[in-house]
Amino acid sequence: MITEEELRKNYETVLNNIRIHAEKVGRNCDEIKLVAVTKTQPIEVLNLALNVGIKVFGENYAQELRDKAKVLQNLGIEWHFIGRIQTNKVKYIVPVAKLIHSVYRLEELEEIDKVAKKLDKTQLVLLEVNVSGEETKAGLQPEQVRNFLIEASKYTNVKIVGLMTMAPYIEPEMTRVYFKKLRALRDELKSDFPDIVELSMGMTNDYTVAVEEGSTIVRIGTALFGERKSKR
Ligand SMILES: *Cc1c(COP(=O)(O)O)cnc(C)c1O
Repeated sequence: MITEEELRKNYETVLNNIRIHAEKVGRNCDEIKLVAVTKTQPIEVLNLALNVGIKVFGENYAQELRDKAKVLQNLGIEWHFIGRIQTNKVKYIVPVAKLIHSVYRLEELEEIDKVAKKLDKTQLVLLEVNVSGEETKAGLQPEQVRNFLIEASKYTNVKIVGLMTMAPYIEPEMTRVYFKKLRALRDELKSDFPDIVELSMGMTNDYTVAVEEGSTIVRIGTALFGERKSKR
């Protein structure tokens, strides 16, 4: 398990890199939110993260999110859900998630809306877009997003606030084209859908590139906590 000292150092490195690459393109690093991806990490690691000042956590599995949020309640943590959504598990996600990054099917949105309604909550979500066209990747095709947004307008307890993507795992500089695509899509949608502002893009491998290309949310696990043992 990582030590607090190592984590503190990693955290400083990541924040520093975000700042450097933001400034390189004339951005302010305050516009960029760091989501610490804690999937598969034990509660002890989340406690270390809290000790070094990390308060925004991203989880991939619904029950894991629910369980961790229960143990760590009332600590001011902001939880994000970034994993594949199973409709029958939405009920574990909506009560705790500030933002759901990974919506791409109307059935998911309908269920999120239903659960949110019961909780008298407006659930913030992002739409996952498959900009690379990789078959193994989830998400809407870019040309489907506009129609999806029109369809989605009937769900009154969800608010779609931006787009998310995962770039292929390739040489970082090669991911730039995909981040450019997501940003261009957002900019194109903005006039008709003014709520679409966030760009969740950038992971350990490629966050410096994503920041240069306009990312507003980066999702980082390995660079903070080290390699995950579990491949989940
Ligand atoms: C695991 C995961 C991350 C973090 O990946 P790292 O390479 O460890 O930074 C980010 N986003 C999603 C959707 C993930 O599943």
